[in-house]
Amino acid sequence: MNKQKIYQYIDENSCLYTDISHKVWEYAELSLKEYKSAALYKAELEKAGFVLKDKLGGIETAFSGSYTMGPPPGAEGAGHVIGILGEFDALSGLSQQAGAIECMEPEDADLAAEQAGSGHGCGHNMLGAASFGAACAVKRFLEETKTPGTVVFYGCPGEEGGASKAFLAREGEWKKLDAAITWHPGSMNEVTTGTSNSCTQVLYKFKGLAAHAAGNPYDGRSALDAVELMNIGCNYLREHMKKECSIHYAMIDGGGFSPNVVQPHASVLYMVRAIKVKDVKELQARVDKLAEGAALMTGTSCERIFVDGTANPLPNTALEKVIFRNLQEVPLPEYSAEEKEYAAKLRKTWEGKETFPGLGALADKNIAAEVKEFTKNGTLDLNSFVYPFYSGDEFTPGSTDVGDVSWLTPTVQFNAVTWPAGSPGHSWQNVSCGRTSIGDKGLLYAAKVLAGTAADLFAETGLLKEAKAEFEERTKDEKYLCPIEEDAVPYVIG
Ligand SMILES: [Zn+2]
Ligand SMILES: [Zn+2]
Repeated sequence: MNKQKIYQYIDENSCLYTDISHKVWEYAELSLKEYKSAALYKAELEKAGFVLKDKLGGIETAFSGSYTMGPPPGAEGAGHVIGILGEFDALSGLSQQAGAIECMEPEDADLAAEQAGSGHGCGHNMLGAASFGAACAVKRFLEETKTPGTVVFYGCPGEEGGASKAFLAREGEWKKLDAAITWHPGSMNEVTTGTSNSCTQVLYKFKGLAAHAAGNPYDGRSALDAVELMNIGCNYLREHMKKECSIHYAMIDGGGFSPNVVQPHASVLYMVRAIKVKDVKELQARVDKLAEGAALMTGTSCERIFVDGTANPLPNTALEKVIFRNLQEVPLPEYSAEEKEYAAKLRKTWEGKETFPGLGALADKNIAAEVKEFTKNGTLDLNSFVYPFYSGDEFTPGSTDVGDVSWLTPTVQFNAVTWPAGSPGHSWQNVSCGRTSIGDKGLLYAAKVLAGTAADLFAETGLLKEAKAEFEERTKDEKYLCPIEEDAVPYVIG
């Protein structure tokens, strides 16, 4: 089965993959609550002949589907094990009509109720569907070519909050793989490289005593005061932390709605970021002290709940080269006049905010010049070209639990065009475009790139050897420090 046949297989089954994407888009379930989306994937994996493992790491909506040709992993004569990662969680406050060119609520009342105000602003409806399509095509490849090996589709919930991949990393799940591959919807067909932040999130729940704010305030103990004092402490702390660290917080409970009550409960969710997990943990411990101090000052109590955390991704140049080769080999989507018109209109809603995208353009003048030309000086509405190859260790702000996978097995990611050029992250525009034919074309392209890459890794074992050697080198002096605390369990906020 050559690459053309892999692409043909994905085209023949394209309706299944785009249907999954559309359904998950409509479910728009929030992190760690993706019950319908997970059920849909599990049913389709079983139908396609994968062996299902449910509730991975004790997480309700985490699962895997695997297929093995030849001896099982670990047995004599067994082939390599390649994992394809899929995500499917949505974001709150982003419900949107498909194909809308201005921000609007869904027309259909039932759909609005079902979405409960959330939407796929990060495109994870497409992310999971393409990864699933790729896993199916790789299964067919292993069957037809009788290549010994295992392909595993991972249903990874809670990428936007919950970090299931990091929880699974704590269990050592990713060590079972010879490589992990994944992608992300975006506005460029581009290999992902470099690194980003490590982080942790901790929820501090203060409890005090209610009292009449005017009558007997001396009997009250304000949990809201505690949250405010903790935040003030944090804002003083900023001067005394390392430059590359940052702290963000969200008050998720300010007590009740009555100012004439001493607020008996209040909660604040903290996110601490640094490049390395070690620095995150150190800073998080100082933030814990702020919570203790605030409780002491106000005579309240504080419950500390560890929510999640992620590690900084490790790039793998060897795998990035294989992805790049496949980005070039797969025929690029062609867009109709209608699609181009829609993209142009949608792009107008953020026009002027984007220059020349990508890490490569920032790091290398020649790449910047090429990108300028490819994008027709930034005027192209859909970046329907493959971004020049660039591999580096540069830092981009942000966090992903793909990072935790990358510390335990060689891992690679890429972006594929599912949105117009420069589309803002986590936006209504992404929700709108993620259920159009532009999104569908992007996810089918991504499925082919993933499947082609896996086929290359199975067929040319030298590639995996090279990727592993690089991985060993990168992890030689620094081992994985899991950001997830030992006794932490997945925690759903709200
Ligand atoms: Zn996101
Ligand atoms: Zn995302």
